[in-house]
Amino acid sequence: MSSLNNNTAVSEQQKVSPEIISLPIRSIRRIRDYQQIAIYKDVNPLDWEDWHWQLKHRIRSKEELSQIIKLTPEEDKGTDKAKGKLAMAITPYWASLMDPDDANCPIRRQAVPVSAEFLVAPHEMTDPCAEDRDSPAPHLVHRYPDRVLLLSTEHCAMYCRHCTRRRLVGQTEEKSENSAGKFDAAIDYIKSNRKVRDVLISGGDPLIMEDEQIEDLVQKIRSISHVEFLRLGTRVPVTLPQRITEKLVNMLKKYSPLWVSIHFNHPKEITKRSRIACEMLADAGIPLGSQTVLLKGINDRPFIMRKLMQELLQIRVRPYYIYQCDPVRGTQHFRTPVATGINIMEKLRGYTSGYAVPTYVIDGPGGGGKIPVGPNYILSQAKGKYVLRNYKGKIYTYLE
Ligand SMILES: *Cc1c(COP(=O)(O)O)cnc(C)c1O
Repeated sequence: MSSLNNNTAVSEQQKVSPEIISLPIRSIRRIRDYQQIAIYKDVNPLDWEDWHWQLKHRIRSKEELSQIIKLTPEEDKGTDKAKGKLAMAITPYWASLMDPDDANCPIRRQAVPVSAEFLVAPHEMTDPCAEDRDSPAPHLVHRYPDRVLLLSTEHCAMYCRHCTRRRLVGQTEEKSENSAGKFDAAIDYIKSNRKVRDVLISGGDPLIMEDEQIEDLVQKIRSISHVEFLRLGTRVPVTLPQRITEKLVNMLKKYSPLWVSIHFNHPKEITKRSRIACEMLADAGIPLGSQTVLLKGINDRPFIMRKLMQELLQIRVRPYYIYQCDPVRGTQHFRTPVATGINIMEKLRGYTSGYAVPTYVIDGPGGGGKIPVGPNYILSQAKGKYVLRNYKGKIYTYLE
C-alpha cells in the first residue's frame, strides 16, 4: 500500500473536483477520522472524499487487508478463496470503520470473506428467490402484478458477504458495464406493460454508475407515462457515502417522486459521514427507507436492532423491511432461526415508535415473494369477535 501514499502525494494539487468543494466546510472537518489509520494517515481529505479514489483504492487482496486488520485463520483462508463472483472489495471508508483486533466486528464480518462461506448447506441455493425464472427480459424481474425489479449493474462499492445475488455480482474483472442499449429490452417490456406502475432499480448497485448513465436510465423510465413510482435500491450511503454528491442529488431531485431504499444492518454504520449522505438525499426531498438483513452475531439481538431502527429515524431513514437471510449458498454462518426475527419484532412493537418498526419478511424460496412473518396478536376469532393481545400480553376483546 506504499504506492497508495505516493500516488496521493502526487495528485494532491491537481485533483480538486468541484463536487468535493461543494461539501460544506463542517463536513470536511468531520471526515478526517480516517487519518488515525496508519496506511491512510497521509491521504489528502480531498482524495478521501472523491468516490472514484475510494473505488480505485478498494482493498482486494489479503496483503492489503492485513495492513489494516489482524487476520484470523478463517479470514486468511477466506480471502485466499474469494475469487471470481463476489470477490472481496472493501472501500477505504468501510475499512476505516473495521475493528482491527475483533473478528466479530459487525463491519468486518460483512466485508471480509471467511472459510465458512465455502461450505454449502443442503438446502442452500444459487438463486433462492428464483429471480432468473421470473425474468421476462434481460436485467428485469417481474414477480408482482404492478411492479418490476431492474438489475442495473453487477457491481457494488463493497461486496457484502451475505449477498443474495452473489450469483450475479462482484466478478473480479470489471467489465464495461454500460454497453449501449443494455436496457432496451427491459424498457420496452415496461413500456408495453401498462400494469407496471412501480420500477425498482437495484443491482448490484445502481449508484456505482456515473451520473450520466444513471440519469439516462432514470429519465427513460420516468418518461413512461404509466410508471408512477421509482425507487433506487443502494448501499452506497453506507459503504461509500462520498458517492452522494451535490451533483448526483441535484440530478435525482429532477425525477421526483423518486424514493431511495438503503441497506443498513448495524448502528456502527451510522457514522458522521453516512449521516451527511442521508441528510443530503433527504434535504433534496428524496424519501429514504432501510432494508436490513437479519444476521447472526451482527444484529440478532433485540437491543441492537432497536438502536439501529431508532438511529435510522434520527437520520430520516424509515425502517422498511427486516429480511430473513435468504438460503443462498455459503451463508449458513449468517442465518438465524426464524424465531430470532419474530422475537425481535415482539421487542420492537409497542416498545418503540411505530415508525421504527419495519416488517419482518421471508422471501419465499422458489419465487414466493416477500412473506410477512411476526408475532401473532390475534388469539382467536369467531362470529364478529376478535380476541387480541397487546404488546404486553394483556388480552382485549374487539366486537365487530
Ligand atoms: C422486493 C421486490 C420487489 C419490491 O417489493 P416491495 O414489497 O414493493 O418493496 C419487487 N420485485 C421483486 C422481484 C422483489 O424481490
